[in-house]
Amino acid sequence: MSTAANTRSRAEEVIARCNKLASFSEDADSVRRTFLSPPMRDCHREITTWLTEAGAEVTVDAAGNLRGFYPSAQVSAPRLLLGSHLDTVPNAGAFDGILGVVIAVVLLESLEARRLPFAIEVVGFSEEEGVRFGTPFIGSRALVGRLDEELLNRQDSNGVSVRTAIKNFGLNPSELPRAMLRDDTLAYLEFHIEQGPVLESLGRSLGAVETIAAQTRMEFVFLGRANHAGTTPMHLRHDAIAAAAEWIVAVERTANNHPGLVATVGQIQARPGVTNVIAAETRATLDVRHKSNEIRDSATDALGRLANEIAERRGLTLQQRVMLSQRAVAMDSFLVDQIQEAIRSTGCQPHRMTSGAGHDAMILAEKIPSAMIFLRSPGGISHDPAESVEVEDVAKALECGLHLLDQLANSSELQKRKCRA
Ligand SMILES: [Zn+2]
Repeated sequence: MSTAANTRSRAEEVIARCNKLASFSEDADSVRRTFLSPPMRDCHREITTWLTEAGAEVTVDAAGNLRGFYPSAQVSAPRLLLGSHLDTVPNAGAFDGILGVVIAVVLLESLEARRLPFAIEVVGFSEEEGVRFGTPFIGSRALVGRLDEELLNRQDSNGVSVRTAIKNFGLNPSELPRAMLRDDTLAYLEFHIEQGPVLESLGRSLGAVETIAAQTRMEFVFLGRANHAGTTPMHLRHDAIAAAAEWIVAVERTANNHPGLVATVGQIQARPGVTNVIAAETRATLDVRHKSNEIRDSATDALGRLANEIAERRGLTLQQRVMLSQRAVAMDSFLVDQIQEAIRSTGCQPHRMTSGAGHDAMILAEKIPSAMIFLRSPGGISHDPAESVEVEDVAKALECGLHLLDQLANSSELQKRKCRA
């Protein structure tokens, strides 16, 4: 078989395996695989078979992360981490997270027992989406030592704590420190579907992520006065829905006027919610993201001031609170350049981009050089059964991955930048 035909058949195998893993679900008719749920065991078993055949030694750490160690020629060689997450949202597709793990497995297979100057550890993170406990990144937090008592005691909707979930899966929470990154870890690389329409709109297969966007989530409550919709003249109203509506349109306009800024009011609730009553209260969420912390902060401040002005002019009061504030995380510049070069070697034009969504790479970047490669998402669709990936793009990702491994094997730079843990 020619190299191209070989890569294509490996890419088809990647997609077939992702579809196979999607059959391990908590729900009968759709994909849902949350942290340490029973189907996660089936998922582990299947991937363990592949990893073992590829020459890796497989363990499950105390946070439920699947870890496959593919040794180097030298016994004491440092290790490179390749991975993504194995959990899903409810009614998920087959590729978000899982694709990155399966690509890592198939990259090991593609080495055909060839040894590199570093070992490779494939990591299938147990939890990234935050579905079961309302807290994301439980798997990758364990690697950077951020699975603290507060998080271990957090409970799911059935009153089961993270700690108990770990025990119920047959794991030992007291062994969590052993899940942490070893200080001989060189870097972390993650392949992931883009989950957005940018690469598709540019007609490109692969993107090099240079930043994971800063993110703020807030809640705004406009407090007006309920009154009769028939007897209260327009100029004597304090309408909480109309005030919120004016602000929501301004949120959209503000984002349109700042390149790279995205701002979303994703949820509104009004009370009392009656056809013939002027609304007394409207609650609205706000989600603001940008690759620059400063631009995210100034946009968030401006939108807060605007809400105040609108409320004041209309005789309403306003409450606002921050629910989440996450700083932008830069990917490692050396790795991003290496990824660009590896993408070029496949004959594709690379695209440097910001990830609007959070990823495990953002957590690992706290301790080790980390970077991500995005694959084009057809239709920009994710977190939905219609989520897909093109076989050509997976083939390019595999090619890119092999180039990248060879580039890193021939570079002394990575050794210098190793673990800051
Ligand atoms: Zn994901």
